[in-house]
Amino acid sequence: TQAVRQATVSYAAPAAEQVNQYGIKVSQAQGTVDALTGAIGNTPLIKLQRLSRETGCNVLGKAEFQNPGGSVKDRAALFVVKDAEERGLLKPGGTVVEGTAGNTGIGLAHVCRSRGYRLVIYMPNTQSQGKVDLLRLLGAEVYPVPAVAWENPENYNWQAKRHADRLLKEDPEHGAVWTNQFDNVANRRAHVETTGPEIWSQTGGTIDAFTCATGTGGTLAGVTRYLKDVSNGKVKCFLADPPGSVLHSYIQSGGKLKEREGGSITEGIGQGRVTDNLKNEVGEIDGSLNISDEKTIEMVYRCLDEEGLYLGASSSLNVVAAKEVAEKLGPGNTVVTMLCDGAYRYADRLFSGKWLESKNLRAAIPKHLERYIVL
Ligand code: PMP
Repeated sequence: TQAVRQATVSYAAPAAEQVNQYGIKVSQAQGTVDALTGAIGNTPLIKLQRLSRETGCNVLGKAEFQNPGGSVKDRAALFVVKDAEERGLLKPGGTVVEGTAGNTGIGLAHVCRSRGYRLVIYMPNTQSQGKVDLLRLLGAEVYPVPAVAWENPENYNWQAKRHADRLLKEDPEHGAVWTNQFDNVANRRAHVETTGPEIWSQTGGTIDAFTCATGTGGTLAGVTRYLKDVSNGKVKCFLADPPGSVLHSYIQSGGKLKEREGGSITEGIGQGRVTDNLKNEVGEIDGSLNISDEKTIEMVYRCLDEEGLYLGASSSLNVVAAKEVAEKLGPGNTVVTMLCDGAYRYADRLFSGKWLESKNLRAAIPKHLERYIVL
C-alpha cells in the first residue's frame, strides 16, 4: 500500500556542509536542477594519485567528461546560446547555426533541444560518419561540406554564418544566430564565470599552476583570466600545445605567427591563429609546452591503467603538461588541468594496434601497457 511504500523509502537528509580533502567547506545543498542545462559544470576535481606521488605535487584533473554532452564544450555551448538570448537574437523556435565537427556540436545539440531551438551544423566532409550520425540523432540538421581553409569563403564556418544570415532574413520573428565559437567571447566567459571559480574554490585557493591545451582558446583564456585576477597574478598559467599548432611558437617567440605545418593525433585542439577568445589574454600566459603525440598516447594508457580514467587524447596531453609543470615547479605545488572528454568517441583509434602502427606510435606504448591494445 501507499503507506508502506512511503515508510520504506526514506532518504537521509543531506548534510548542509562537508569538509573536502583540502579542508574546505563544501556546500552539499542537494536539489533539482530546472533543466538539463543545470547539469552542466560543477564537475569534480580528481587527484591523479600516481602522478601526484611521483612529482610530490597535487596533480588534479577537472572531470569535464562528466558534463551531459560528455565534454568541456557543454559550458561554451550553454554560454553562447544564453548570450544570443540575452542579446535578443534568439526567441523560442529560433535556430542556432554553428561550424563544428565535434564536441561543441554535441553540447549545442543538448542545449538547443533543452531550450527549444533548432540546430544546424556545418562540418568538413572529412569527418567520420559516426560524428554526423550522432549529431543527427541528437536532433541537429547536418551539412558536411568540402574541407577548405579558413581563408576560403566556402569554409564550413563561413557557410554556417551565411546560413544563419539567410534564416534571419526569412524568419526574423524567431531569430537565427551563428554562435561562432572561435571568436565569440561568450565562450571564454563560460570559463571566467564557471570553470575558473570552480577550480579556485575546489582547491581552496591553494592552486599554484594551471595548464591546458586550446582549440578555440576559450578554456585556457577564461580560466587564466579568472585565476590571475583572483590570485593577484600568483597562479602560473601554461599553454599545452600539440604538434602542428602555431601557438607554442607564438608564445615562445613573443608574438610571431608562423605557418601551420604538420599535425597531431589529438582532436579538438591545436590552432593556426590567435582567435578572439585568446586575443588580449595571451599576454597573461606564463609559458607554453609542446607535447609530442608519443607522450600523449602513452598517457592515455597510463591514466587508464593507473587511475581508471578513460580519457581522450586532448585530456591526456593536458595531463602530460600538468606532470611536466609539476616537475618544473617542484614538490608541494598544486597543479590543475582539464580532462576535456573521455575516450569513448576515439576508442577505435586510440586502442587499435593497426591505427597506432599507421601513426608510428606503437612503440610509444610501454610493454606493461600493451594489454590495453585490444582493437
Ligand atoms: N579538448 C577537446 C576534446 C575539445 O573538443 C576541445 C574543443 N575543440 C578542446 C579540448 C579545447 O577547448 P577550447 O575550445 O575551449 O580551447
